[in-house]
Amino acid sequence: MNLKKDIRALTKDQLRDFFVENGDKAFRGNQVYEWLWSKSAHTFEDMTNISKETREMLQNNFVINHIEVDSIQRSSDGTVKNAVRLHDGLIVESVLIPTGTRTTACVSSQVGCSLDCLFCATARLKKMRNLNPDEIYDQVAAINKESLLYYNHKLSNIVFMGMGEPLMNYNNVLKAIDKITSPEGLGMSPKRITVSTSGVPKMIKKLADDEVKFNLAVSLHAAIDEVRTKIMPFNENFPLKDLKEALEHWYAKTSSRVTYEYIVWKGINDTREDIMALVKFCKYVPCKVNLIEYNPIDDGDFKQAKPQVITDYISILEMNDIIVNVRRSRGKDIDAACGQLANKS
Ligand code: SAH
Repeated sequence: MNLKKDIRALTKDQLRDFFVENGDKAFRGNQVYEWLWSKSAHTFEDMTNISKETREMLQNNFVINHIEVDSIQRSSDGTVKNAVRLHDGLIVESVLIPTGTRTTACVSSQVGCSLDCLFCATARLKKMRNLNPDEIYDQVAAINKESLLYYNHKLSNIVFMGMGEPLMNYNNVLKAIDKITSPEGLGMSPKRITVSTSGVPKMIKKLADDEVKFNLAVSLHAAIDEVRTKIMPFNENFPLKDLKEALEHWYAKTSSRVTYEYIVWKGINDTREDIMALVKFCKYVPCKVNLIEYNPIDDGDFKQAKPQVITDYISILEMNDIIVNVRRSRGKDIDAACGQLANKS
């Protein structure tokens, strides 16, 4: 059994205290902390300004559970997918998406997912565990490096739209974002980070109460309960009226516009009634709608609606002064697009 502690579970103060307790200077804690986070050291040997004895002492007491990028796939559209191996051998995926002058990292928050959205490939993987803050951070750091390598500039945006439900791993996701935004980590602005949720009302309220500074996206896909429950069965327990109330609380506290992700499927949500329900839902709080293209996941039940229906959605939303964008998916040829992450490699 490995009794060594994960050194990145310690706060900076705890690390400083550790050195003082071991007869060294608190400042050594700062140096090691910098290696662990902003310099992303994989091993204690990497810490070249720390003495050999100190490195050995750290080695005897701690482990660094750094992720390893197991394989990298590049799509013809420039999208890059990393299969990431965790310290216990489990695999998650993260994606680098280049768009114009920007690069976006799409990261995972759990191994598998406990939700059961019928149209999503990740939902077919059992949820194995939550990711730790450092495992989330490492995915971003790895993609930042790839962004520099392939595109010559740093990562510009992060979306929590990989595997898992971020709000069901609330504390670790928030801790990771703290590190990503801290000058001691990657120093990114929270305005460039979006957390996407299938809509867990209690946790959306908690985000609001915690006054987070990042953006919120909700995978809505239907604004009529019966329709939503059919394709996202957990909606039965988190119905739209609870979601509405949570989003009102979110907006009251943060004044931050919500993004709704919405796919239009043939025979599922392609009627006038579906569109009008969405329009009504969009009036509750300031928002915008991203209509996303469906990525088939070898399942005959879901088919993208006809272009005319999408056009109707756009024109009716716009007629009602609702901002709407159409999002094309990227990286389909390498199973890196929305809802396709299922460790297929
Ligand atoms: N659990 C969170 C984070 C995952 S985000 C959430 O649901 O928001 C992944 C996004 O891709 C979600 O908006 C999801 O609804 C969407 N998605 C899932 N399967 C898809 C598919 N086959 N095609 C296109 N988008 C899909």
